[in-house]
Amino acid sequence: MNPIEERIENLRNELREHNYNYYVLDNATISDYEFDVKLKELQELEAKHPEFFDANSPTQRVGGEVTKNFETIPHEHRMYSLDNSYSKEDLLDWEKRIKKLVDGEVQYTCELKYDGASISLTYENGKLVKAVTRGDGFQGDNVTANVKTIKSVPLQLKGDYPEKFDIRGEIVLPFEGFNKMNEERIEIGEEPYRNPRNTASGSLKLQDSAEVAKRPLECLLYNLTGSNLGIKTQFESLKKAREWGFKVPDAATLAHSIDEVLEFVDYWNTHRHNLPYETDGVVIKVNSLQQQEELGYTAKAPRWAMAYKFKAEQVSTKLNSITYQVGRTGAITPVANLEPVELAGTTVKRASLHNADQIAKLDIRVGDEVYVEKGGEIIPKILGVDLTKRPSGSVPTTYINHCPECHTELVREEGEAQHYCPNYNGCNPQIIGRIQHFISRKAMDIEGLGGETVALLVNEGLITNYSDLYELKKEQVIPLERMAEKSADNLIQGIEKSKTIPFERVLYALGIRYVGETVAKKLARHYKSIDAIAHASEEALVNVDEIGVKIAESVSAFFASTENVFIVNRLKEFGVQLEMSEEELVGKTNKLEGLSIVISGVFESLSRDELKKLIEDNGGKVSSSISSKTSFIVAGANMGPSKKEKAEKLNIELINEYQFLQKLNI
Ligand code: AMP
Ligand code: ZN
Repeated sequence: MNPIEERIENLRNELREHNYNYYVLDNATISDYEFDVKLKELQELEAKHPEFFDANSPTQRVGGEVTKNFETIPHEHRMYSLDNSYSKEDLLDWEKRIKKLVDGEVQYTCELKYDGASISLTYENGKLVKAVTRGDGFQGDNVTANVKTIKSVPLQLKGDYPEKFDIRGEIVLPFEGFNKMNEERIEIGEEPYRNPRNTASGSLKLQDSAEVAKRPLECLLYNLTGSNLGIKTQFESLKKAREWGFKVPDAATLAHSIDEVLEFVDYWNTHRHNLPYETDGVVIKVNSLQQQEELGYTAKAPRWAMAYKFKAEQVSTKLNSITYQVGRTGAITPVANLEPVELAGTTVKRASLHNADQIAKLDIRVGDEVYVEKGGEIIPKILGVDLTKRPSGSVPTTYINHCPECHTELVREEGEAQHYCPNYNGCNPQIIGRIQHFISRKAMDIEGLGGETVALLVNEGLITNYSDLYELKKEQVIPLERMAEKSADNLIQGIEKSKTIPFERVLYALGIRYVGETVAKKLARHYKSIDAIAHASEEALVNVDEIGVKIAESVSAFFASTENVFIVNRLKEFGVQLEMSEEELVGKTNKLEGLSIVISGVFESLSRDELKKLIEDNGGKVSSSISSKTSFIVAGANMGPSKKEKAEKLNIELINEYQFLQKLNI
């Protein structure tokens, strides 16, 4: 073999193995940094040698392919749905029906019912050739490019896999990743996603696979289909699938009788709350494939399988009123105010109604008795109305068309679920929310000024936007509730001090939609001043690394408003940092961008603080503990033995201070 081809093959195998260890076995065997270095080497080799292209190379996982229209593909084997059961009696009835149709002893495989989006994967000669959504069961959408980016989906199998087969599973978004995605959305002023399941299935239909690659999706497999697979039972097929490299949760159990099935159900009914992803029940399957064949299918579902649905914790209570909240971005959220009721250990008084469509869909009316459920989400949701208890003379809910706070007519853009109040600079909750964001810790970090005082200042008419803060006088503040001489002093001092906050944080503080901390940093470092950003065209903005169309549009729209420009100019006049300072410009590079670096031990030529600053000035991040995310460690004398051991285990590079300075050409 040509040495380059050999190197490429070796890198692919190595990366595949690390991927498998990390995403399927949850057991990292290499640091992220080392992984990235190898991946980069492979990417470069592949770019130089297109003759060795492989559609299933680990480099293909980062995505990049854009699908405008998903092609419809028929399933070779139909994707059936499952019959549902809700009680022990249902399961015993099912057992009776089975016993009538098959002879001999019946065993069952019990599995969890993962709540996500179902997917069918086709493998040929160990390679993933296509991934198709369930669709109507007969045909679905070809989402191969997107599914390839999901790291727990093997692109190349290992072991003694059959030549050709389909495997079915569920694509889920574990809670941890889901919550993290939502935190990021809230930070940039976006509505959080409602639940992991819809977000998972929505992700499969994104046009840009690079976007899918960023989402922490997982694929859990549960069913093999094909001919001549040489497998006799469902339980065995799960074991085999694991051996070939698929992620099959260990919860699956072989039950020798229906009593053991009931035990499994009982156990998971309570323990499911500790799982990292959503489940809505368990699935019980006749274990013998031969018996499965004898049992066959109804028009809709296999006779050999049964879903048992857990009861969601649910109560009914009266809807007292609907109120509407206005968020910092002007988004309107309808809130159901309920007669307080106990649910899953807490008292529930309010539930989100999400938006106008949701209210219309449920036809929910004040005075109705409504069903409330607490699922994976933090805020309880309303499932429906008990129509038998609807009071006579109740009237359908009409959604508001004016802002409850400033009475401006609401707008709803095409494709958006939410109504917005467009009165950006004149609507109190928007003004207050924006100033609260401005003073917050990660933004201007104004000591001595809290969220409630901001509300007071606005409501008293002392300020109408954040630039007014810099004109506040102590005498104006003292008469406010809970203010004294001393606290007023602190407040004025805190505001004064914020004038030294560096430009990138000021940019974040402005509260431009979609401009979170990271984006602000990127823009600040790229353009170096607010004027340069304000004058950049949308096109130019999009060309900046990691700045997408949505962000570019939002930045342009912000500076298109004369009012915003006026406010920003006032900030400038007051001495707020609206460009990078000389000091910031000197010695700042992006050489360590994206790296997470640990400092350990004592150094000869510079102090720890100096070292820290050097890392940050060059775009790196200083982290206090070693993990698989650590890029490298700058190690001085007397590095602790446990740290050393950990670094060795994760194979993280140690360099001394001089090697580090060399990296930066200092
Ligand atoms: P339903 O959508 O309620 O008809 O339930 C059928 C769906 O449950 C299937 O299409 C699968 O996507 C999903 N499912 C989740 N976990 C499993 C599992 N362990 N075995 C079979 N189906 C499952
Ligand atoms: Zn308003």
